[in-house]
Amino acid sequence: MKKFILCFLCACFSLTFVGCKKADNLNNLSANLTSYIINVDLNAATHSATCTERVMYVNNSGAILKNVKFHLYPQFFEEVGAGKVVASTQMNEAYPHGMSYAEFEVTRVAVAGKDQPVVYSGECDGILSVDLNSSLMPDKNVEIYIEFNFTLPNCEHRFGYGDNTINLGNFYPIACVYENGSFDESGYSPNGDPFYSDMANYSVNIATDSAYTVAGSGRKTQDTLENGKKVCKFTALMVRDFALVLSNKFEVVSGMADKTAVDYYYFDEDDDSAKANLQTGIDAIKTYSKLYGDYPYENFSLVKADFVYGGMEYPNLVLINADIDNVDDYKNVIIHETAHQWWYGVVGNNEHEHPWLDEGLTEYSTLLFYDNNSGYNLTHAEMLKANKENYTLFMSVYSDVLGDIDTSMRSIYDYSTEPEYTYCTYVKSVLMFESLNGLIGQKKFISGLKEYYSANKYTNAKPENLISAFEKTSKTALTNFFNSWLQGKVVVR
Ligand SMILES: [Zn+2]
Repeated sequence: MKKFILCFLCACFSLTFVGCKKADNLNNLSANLTSYIINVDLNAATHSATCTERVMYVNNSGAILKNVKFHLYPQFFEEVGAGKVVASTQMNEAYPHGMSYAEFEVTRVAVAGKDQPVVYSGECDGILSVDLNSSLMPDKNVEIYIEFNFTLPNCEHRFGYGDNTINLGNFYPIACVYENGSFDESGYSPNGDPFYSDMANYSVNIATDSAYTVAGSGRKTQDTLENGKKVCKFTALMVRDFALVLSNKFEVVSGMADKTAVDYYYFDEDDDSAKANLQTGIDAIKTYSKLYGDYPYENFSLVKADFVYGGMEYPNLVLINADIDNVDDYKNVIIHETAHQWWYGVVGNNEHEHPWLDEGLTEYSTLLFYDNNSGYNLTHAEMLKANKENYTLFMSVYSDVLGDIDTSMRSIYDYSTEPEYTYCTYVKSVLMFESLNGLIGQKKFISGLKEYYSANKYTNAKPENLISAFEKTSKTALTNFFNSWLQGKVVVR
């Protein structure tokens, strides 16, 4: 996600691919992953949908499982979750037409063809617990079938709709990560991206009103009219989530970034501006591929959307806030969200526990982008200066109000206010990585990120993986360096 703080403190704001080498590679790598086949029948006029989901769940946990748990993130958009999906300071941006709530219900669960009771648990009933009836041994799989339906809230968020777009982010039951003997059941948070998931394969079919254009993660394999309805199919291998965005206003401009097809979905924008925004996405894919390692997918979609924050990342697809008027700020969000394809997308992490790991690397990547692309109106030096000034101003204002403040870089659930989260996660990370860059030198710094990317591709990495990658390339012990920053001991002047 992009918190819109650029420069100004108060600007708060059986799935088969055929074809090219990239796809063949993913075909092999994705062979033993959980697969989701999702069918969505969406009435765009009422913003309601009926859905089926067939999950071939592969037990890659190493443990014997008796149940499988799924996140039901839409539950938090119901009235019971009020205040949990967006901070109070951004209610007006998220709900410009007043409060609105989702409806969401799982209507059927079956395991290996046998019906099971629908069992919710957790905060806001945000977890679906599926009893497997028998033990699922490691490396074995089981078919879990789920039917669900929802009505979207009039909310410019990941799961909701605005005047221009319908956003289907985190809209389906997604398997919780199993680690350390249990499933991670963490719920929503108004701060940050509360998500954590494993790589999987997706085949998603959507039928909706004929006037709508559909953007989605992965490769669109069908886009036709059938019996007066728009029908689109998407296939995505080796991704950790899947999102769709729809609009009856979308226009599309397309280009290539090496072997990746890049599409920019937009509305209310002239052709030249759209082409320039597409080019920014292409430049970003090319730049990060060169800096860190190849973008391994065939497709990438930049999608202009009604969205409360600057932007939001999903695999192969990012949302960019349509309300950003400043051209450079808009492009900066594109550059930020595209970097998430490396830091979150390919190399994942527990985003709620260590938000600095993906957001920090992503935000610092924007500075490296400007180092490598002189045709943009922002520079590394300007971005760094703004971050430093903003951080020291934040510290000064907050400590005047609160006295001593906790500047540790911690879990999203442990920040009491959104500014605390934003400054400790985005702004402070930029200062930390700049300091490391200066300490070990840019060449070893970039080599460290290349090492981190190649060693942790398609997995969920931990902070120690990043530290060891930098230690390997710099031949310097860096645990104390990181601990000082992460634990809030470094004083920024
Ligand atoms: Zn972000």
